[in-house]
Amino acid sequence: MRVAVFSTKPYDKRFLSAAAEETDHELEFFEARLDRTTAALADDFDVVCAFVNDELGAATLLRVAKTGPKLIALRSAGFNHVDLESAKSLGLPVVRVPAYSPRSVAEHTVALMLALDRKIHRAHARVREGNLSLDGLLGFDLGSRTVGIVGTGKIGVAVAKILSGFGCRLLGYDVYENSDAVAAGVEYVDLATLWEESDVVSLHAPLTPETHHLVDASAIATMKDGVMVINTSRGALIDTAAVIEGLKSGKIGHLGLDVYEEEGDLFFEDLSNTVIQDDVFSRLLTFPNVLITGHQAFFTVEALEAIATATIANITAFEEGRVSGNEL
Ligand code: NAD
Repeated sequence: MRVAVFSTKPYDKRFLSAAAEETDHELEFFEARLDRTTAALADDFDVVCAFVNDELGAATLLRVAKTGPKLIALRSAGFNHVDLESAKSLGLPVVRVPAYSPRSVAEHTVALMLALDRKIHRAHARVREGNLSLDGLLGFDLGSRTVGIVGTGKIGVAVAKILSGFGCRLLGYDVYENSDAVAAGVEYVDLATLWEESDVVSLHAPLTPETHHLVDASAIATMKDGVMVINTSRGALIDTAAVIEGLKSGKIGHLGLDVYEEEGDLFFEDLSNTVIQDDVFSRLLTFPNVLITGHQAFFTVEALEAIATATIANITAFEEGRVSGNEL
């Protein structure tokens, strides 16, 4: 099949090309993000391969469908950026990579927790400047604290398994209880209890209308003073303006983000020679107790290999008229 790969970076090319080596698929790599203005690039292709910040709204899908039936193959687990209703009505099947390496995201989540707790980002900068004072670097024993995990699916459970090794008390909230989470030591509670009792809140639920701005001003008001909030799921789980107020008042003691509500125009690009126009994002960067990474939690060799292998397998299954099990 002829595959138009959007939002391509060198690493996408490397891993997808390797995964497709034994197949007849022809991959063409476009650096452009997919949206309604770039969808025409896929005109002569059978498959549109998209990533997390591509925009697959109704207008884009309509343009994609214009030149015949196609498969939409997502290189991600999350699919909040796809208008599934429109895809269905246009006869465009959508497949995704539901699980590639939950461990990659879980390990990055815990890295953010530990770095914030022990102020590794600040210590690194200080030591390089010859400042070896410890003032302002006081941390806490993570293993003696309560961590609340919102969304106890594959990644939430992987986080729970790591933190149970630290000795943390683990609280969980989900719309479904997961026996793997219970086996990892998670005690299920309602959301209000999780907000009230957690020293660290870690978000692992998908972005849906129900989880949009789950962490808002009213939720923050019920959290512990000095709470640490970590979001490696999707930016809009957090009301960023409310979180900034929480940081200013000291209610939020640490904030770790791998995702941001408006990341589409920022992340995955080198903006070091430009002036960032997003004032909310710029404000976040000014806090000493905020650590932001640019949607890199998935970015391990193991995860990229698994994403590429599953994406190519999804395309092959579509070509052969088989169900891959990864259809949305
Ligand atoms: P998953 O489907 O295995 O788990 C998600 C869990 O959230 C499920 O248990 C589900 O029941 C629960 N959930 C759904 N609605 C909820 C609600 N309203 N309240 C509480 N829980 C709810 O998914 P996963 O593989 O664990 O991934 C979780 C999320 O992580 C993805 O949706 C994606 O947005 C994000 N993600 C981020 C990265 C990254 O690089 N930062 C990489 C992969 C995935």
